[in-house]
Amino acid sequence: MDHIEIVRLANEAGVQLVSFLFCDNGGIIRGKSTHIAGLPQRLASGMGVTSAMQAMSDMDQLQVVEGMGPVGEFRLIPDPDTFTLLPYAPQRALMLADMITTEREPWEACPRSFLKRMLARAQDMGLAFQAAFEPEWYLARRDGDGFAPMDESLDNSTIGDAFARDVIDDVVSTLTAQGLRVEQYYPELGQGQQELSIAHAGALTAADNHLVYRETVRNVAWNHGWLASFAPKPFPEQAGSGCHIHLSAWDRNEERNLFYDPEDAQGLSLLAYHFIGGILEHLPGLAALTCPSMNSYRRISPGSWSTAYICYGPDNREAAVRIPSRFWGAEMASTNLEFRPADSSSNPYIALGGLIAAGLDGVERSLRPPEGLWIDTDPARLTASDLAVRGIRRLPATLLDSIRELEADETLTGAMGPMLASSYLTIRRADWELFSQRDEEFEIRHHFYKY
Ligand code: GLU
Ligand code: MG
Repeated sequence: MDHIEIVRLANEAGVQLVSFLFCDNGGIIRGKSTHIAGLPQRLASGMGVTSAMQAMSDMDQLQVVEGMGPVGEFRLIPDPDTFTLLPYAPQRALMLADMITTEREPWEACPRSFLKRMLARAQDMGLAFQAAFEPEWYLARRDGDGFAPMDESLDNSTIGDAFARDVIDDVVSTLTAQGLRVEQYYPELGQGQQELSIAHAGALTAADNHLVYRETVRNVAWNHGWLASFAPKPFPEQAGSGCHIHLSAWDRNEERNLFYDPEDAQGLSLLAYHFIGGILEHLPGLAALTCPSMNSYRRISPGSWSTAYICYGPDNREAAVRIPSRFWGAEMASTNLEFRPADSSSNPYIALGGLIAAGLDGVERSLRPPEGLWIDTDPARLTASDLAVRGIRRLPATLLDSIRELEADETLTGAMGPMLASSYLTIRRADWELFSQRDEEFEIRHHFYKY
């Protein structure tokens, strides 16, 4: 869509404010809005934001990061392809924006530009990624100082469906009107927990879609008088909310799924095995990108299907990488990897960019996953010595562990570049330092609200 078309559409729809949104190092969606009168100019020149924004912890405490203080700013330049009218707020529209320097270059600390860089690298290798985020979230209400789930329903139960129906139907029609393709819905295991999935798309669009999705669910639920939360573990006694990431690699023309090989027992190509090899090798550090919040590690635990072990397996929901079984008649199209240790407190651009960086490293080094990491049972049921013989390790058990792993992983920090890596790690450490001093109730209250 070009700028003239956007202005025409916005005017026709009666839009007053257009928000230019970004997702920061803390996974928080933030933005600034321009009045419609200034839109033509702002589309070209962007909006100025202080560079300090990428050094802001998710408690809004400014951290010390070089080049991210009171001096300097970046421009939020919206991507014309992301212009979206908001049915839940008819006077508003949103666009997803890149952080661009005043010298007109992608800013090194821009998460969306990081993902674009990884996709360009993949393209140089002849690969085009399709991705889907599979979000789980809770509907809840305020309860004293805390929150309580919307209902007491069971997994897949029609009673849960009935309770949530007004909100869900509105979410579905709103997402559809915004151009997202809804795939499936069901009341998830937790009381008040929902899962509503969106069809895969090109990797950048999939990450953009996930931000539109988070905004939509929050706002629609709010309009119905409910709170929605994407926090990884908003209720300690209920199931966690993951946001598994599905990924497949296609040829440049997007005609052939390069992860698919009908000759292989698992239907996977050598490329797919190498990609998995990279993911598994980098998983300890990658976890700091895909499970980035304090609350993430309350979700990651054995026996909760959130995965706790570094391994992969066929339809194995306790393995970090699940190889989903294929659908009849759509074998090639439905071949993908499901990366499970991921949640919606992550920045989708950073999470996906990191995942691709890890996988591509495996491809470049022809890294086959060690044999012992293939597992068709729950790893938590193996003895410690069985796990050791197979070489299956635990995922980092705390945010601090994953931060340290990321710091030590030069492939991941190298892909991110010094400025994104250092600001990101600083924000994560700030989180650890704050929340490790506080109790569970404080952690949950804050994460519930932020995500
Ligand atoms: N809620 C689980 C998680 O935290 C996932 C359940 C499922 O397999 O859908 O990842
Ligand atoms: Mg689920």
